[in-house]
Amino acid sequence: MPTSRPASGTISGPAPSTERLYYDDPLLIEFRAYVKAQSELDGKRTLILDRTAFFPEGGGQMADRGKLAGLDVQDVQVGTDGALHHIVDGEAPPVGTEVTGQVDFPRRRVHMALHTGQHILSRALLDVAQAETVSARLGETSCTIDVGIADVKERDIARAEDLANAVVDGDVAIRSFFPDAEELARLPLRREPKVSDRVRVVQIGDFDWTPCGGTHCLRSAQVGLIHIVGAERYKGGTRVTFGAGRRAREQLAGESAVLRALGQELSSGPRDVPAAVEKLRRELAAAREALGQTRARLAQRAADEIIGAAQAEGHEMIIAQLEDASAELLRAVAKRVTERPQAVAILAGSDEDGAPVVVARGSASNFDCGTFLKRAAQMAGGRGGGRPERAEGRIPAGVDWASVVRSCVEPSLGKKEG
Ligand SMILES: [Zn+2]
Repeated sequence: MPTSRPASGTISGPAPSTERLYYDDPLLIEFRAYVKAQSELDGKRTLILDRTAFFPEGGGQMADRGKLAGLDVQDVQVGTDGALHHIVDGEAPPVGTEVTGQVDFPRRRVHMALHTGQHILSRALLDVAQAETVSARLGETSCTIDVGIADVKERDIARAEDLANAVVDGDVAIRSFFPDAEELARLPLRREPKVSDRVRVVQIGDFDWTPCGGTHCLRSAQVGLIHIVGAERYKGGTRVTFGAGRRAREQLAGESAVLRALGQELSSGPRDVPAAVEKLRRELAAAREALGQTRARLAQRAADEIIGAAQAEGHEMIIAQLEDASAELLRAVAKRVTERPQAVAILAGSDEDGAPVVVARGSASNFDCGTFLKRAAQMAGGRGGGRPERAEGRIPAGVDWASVVRSCVEPSLGKKEG
């Protein structure tokens, strides 16, 4: 580590240019360079070199990481001044020092496969579905291509994936070069260049030509695999999520592990999981049907009982607390009770969370269920409310519902609706 010298401060005047070694050799991971300036970017210390193999974030590709003069390179960015900043932690070596840089190769290799995979897939989507790439993003966990067409057919997505993998299997050469203006004008570029000066073109066999400044594989077989994870509507177009290379293998391995675990859970092989789930679904539907019938019988019996008791006493307001009755059962009982036009059902049940309460009225009653339940539930230390026709709530377990109702039923009678 060189002896420390005071930082030379931020640059004034034209930004120092840096030779980008990754343009010619994406596999170059160790290099030597001179420190041209110490600088700052967003309050972080940075180094500017005369040459670098570090790729700065741009064009949808993430920045490289690695080591520079023994310091961790936390990020690499092109500043608004156009200079290529290596953001390092720790004390930076002074201007003029020769330093060694090491690019984190596994990370770079993933980006090479993803970026090359993106070019191939973008071209395949264009060829198969006339779906032009509007933007592409290669993220830490997910990579996306946004195309300008909504509703790209599932069949076309599958065909594009097949075509892309055929190009991978074809092991064609990938070349990056700076054509002169005349040659550039002749190339069948997939999209217009974003820069006007020194346009770099990435050519994948005779399949695709695209202006790009990123790091790519040198042959298509190095991509290994292109896997489309899914496609969905996005901003009037379609967003295709994909993986390539190691990222694709990890995605598939993850999905395969989930499928195997599901298979074990269902005592079936991975391929039989859909049939096993379908069987479970049928059994669940049958169980729900049976439960519904039982609940209806229970509700019928409970309703008959409480209606009978109320009739014996000669009133239409039916107040009851049903042991172990869920909110669903209470709703069913209330429905039976309020088939009588003048009836009002004020019901409480009990379950593991306390006591559900349901208040409902018959078609000819003007009882305000919502207003009543709001007050009654509050008085019982719970909460509830709803419309004048019906209301629901929940009160704590162990409350004597009948006495709560009696203590506040009179004032709410005859209240106007609304
Ligand atoms: Zn590219």
